[in-house]
Amino acid sequence: AKQRPGNSVAFYSQHLAASEAQKMEVEGRLRDAMALGELEMYFQPQASVRSGDVVGVEALVRWNHPDLGLVSPESFIPIAEEAGITVDLGCWVIESALAGLGRLEAAGLPALQLSINVSADMFTDYVGSRLVQVVRDSLKKSGIPPRRLTLEITERTIIDESGNAPQVIDDLKALGVRLALDDFGTGYSSLGYLKALPIDELKIDRTFIMGQDKEDRAFLRAIISMAKTLNMVVVAEGVETQEQLVRLYEEGCDMYQGYLCSPPVSESALPALVKTTFPA
Ligand code: C2E
Ligand code: CA
Ligand code: CA
Ligand code: CA
Repeated sequence: AKQRPGNSVAFYSQHLAASEAQKMEVEGRLRDAMALGELEMYFQPQASVRSGDVVGVEALVRWNHPDLGLVSPESFIPIAEEAGITVDLGCWVIESALAGLGRLEAAGLPALQLSINVSADMFTDYVGSRLVQVVRDSLKKSGIPPRRLTLEITERTIIDESGNAPQVIDDLKALGVRLALDDFGTGYSSLGYLKALPIDELKIDRTFIMGQDKEDRAFLRAIISMAKTLNMVVVAEGVETQEQLVRLYEEGCDMYQGYLCSPPVSESALPALVKTTFPA
């Protein structure tokens, strides 16, 4: 599996889905993986559609399993949920991503925006205050100002009535961090939620970027125009071709990420990508 990180990860996720026994092994091992240093944060550049400059990164967790190789977060995050360890994993991700970017900036990397995925489980009554605390402490330790941190939540977080999400969202906003709605268009959120919640950024799911026909284009235009009406920054996900980028430019999309710019890369590989757009 010597492909780009994105590809090898997808390869292993299929293997994992195949075997229940393997799933249980993974569950047991995931508890130790954090302590053993087998989890690693990767960073995918986010670029301005207009200038092409890299202005931010999304942190994406990777598991370097000694036997299975790179395990996809899409297969081990659901397992973490079943095992009841998403909160520990989520806290680890926030600490590690901020620490990683903090290290890079201390070494001279230009200031970037940082986006971190936060699962719905982090917003329940029980752990919401722990989330707020980890964000506050990790920001302080890293020296990164709150305005440069964006927490990516999904429609699932917003519609979860059992939890305490609106209160936790308010507490996070009070810290000064930004909020993004991830995978927009794939879930169930009503426009009412979008208007009511303090969302700063809308991330349009890859499936709406891929389409080429007239209807796809109309849909893209409608999403962007709605987001602009609500004063949200619009980020397109999974941009793979120059054609897609041109269309996003024409429709007024603000930012993009995807293989066209770069796959997710390790902390040590990131500076080379940023320096090409920010000459020292
Ligand atoms: P996501 O947040 O939608 O992240 C984007 C996914 O699309 C990433 O997969 C990324 O590698 C992939 N991707 C990026 N550019 C392209 C492209 O041009 N084409 C295609 N086909 N794919 C592209 P990844 O890293 O495997 O992550 C999958 C999902 O796992 C993420 O989807 C996110 O929901 C979840 N995830 C990843 N890291 C974390 C984390 O630290 N915490 C939580 N809670 N969830 C995470
Ligand atoms: Ca995301
Ligand atoms: Ca997404
Ligand atoms: Ca996704």
